[in-house]
Amino acid sequence: MDPLFLPSIVALGGLGLFFGASLAFAAKKFAVQIDPKVEHILDILPSANCGACGQPGCSAYAEAVAAGTVPPNKCAPGGQKVVEQISEILGISGIDAEESRVAVVQCQGGKAEAVEKFIYEGVEDCRAAELIGGGHKACQYGCLGLGSCVKACPFDAMYMNENGLPVVIEDKCTACGICVSTCPRGIMKLIPRSQNVFLGCVSQDKLKAVKSVCKVGCFACKICTTPKVTPSQAIIMDENLPVIKDLKSEELYAAVDKCPSKSYVIRDKSKVPVKSEQ
Ligand code: SF4
Ligand code: SF4
Repeated sequence: MDPLFLPSIVALGGLGLFFGASLAFAAKKFAVQIDPKVEHILDILPSANCGACGQPGCSAYAEAVAAGTVPPNKCAPGGQKVVEQISEILGISGIDAEESRVAVVQCQGGKAEAVEKFIYEGVEDCRAAELIGGGHKACQYGCLGLGSCVKACPFDAMYMNENGLPVVIEDKCTACGICVSTCPRGIMKLIPRSQNVFLGCVSQDKLKAVKSVCKVGCFACKICTTPKVTPSQAIIMDENLPVIKDLKSEELYAAVDKCPSKSYVIRDKSKVPVKSEQ
């Protein structure tokens, strides 16, 4: 047997013991203490990591809530149930979830209504298409129809319809807002669920510039803002786009009726007051 064999084994064993003990000591000495409240809060969050709370993810939100720097009602997918569970962990009460919201598609110019200036054959991504000559839609504001919002939705709450427009499945939408931040054209928006009417157009153009590219684009005729249609000014003009000021006003249904370009959208037709229904 090599005379160095035994001393080598002893030396290696000693080194192993030394490094093992050092690592164990360092792990104990430098261990990061995790607040058990953070872990409990993290357990009840939906783990969507959607960022709707304004934090980079569920862990960061759990830490911020436990530290008391943000309120417990910022998790849109969690709703009232999560607010109550977090409040119990923190020993607080009286905080309600923020008003429930839902995503809407503010463009109705699909294949049948909107003109295309060229055939796009690139990557199926609206952000990529936007970079090619400002997109293939003749309307520089309209939905590009490649479904980036649909692909980004973590809750399978959207699909593309046959007309090339995204549709929100409202029952599944948690208002996480990922579709809003994904759309390069600002088409997706979160609105309160109590708001039944919204404008399905974001074009800043007017008259001929709109009519030449889309059959349903708002061309800033201002009819919906006239005293005859909205006497309490439930809708006002902001440059070339009408803005709904009174989200629950019944005057909005008159605007839907009178809009010559049919640019307004009713989310739930069963809620239309009988008098105003067409
Ligand atoms: S539709 Fe938009 S807001 Fe709603 S769950 Fe999907 S990504 Fe979130
Ligand atoms: S709403 Fe925006 S992201 Fe969605 S398909 Fe239209 S352009 Fe693309």
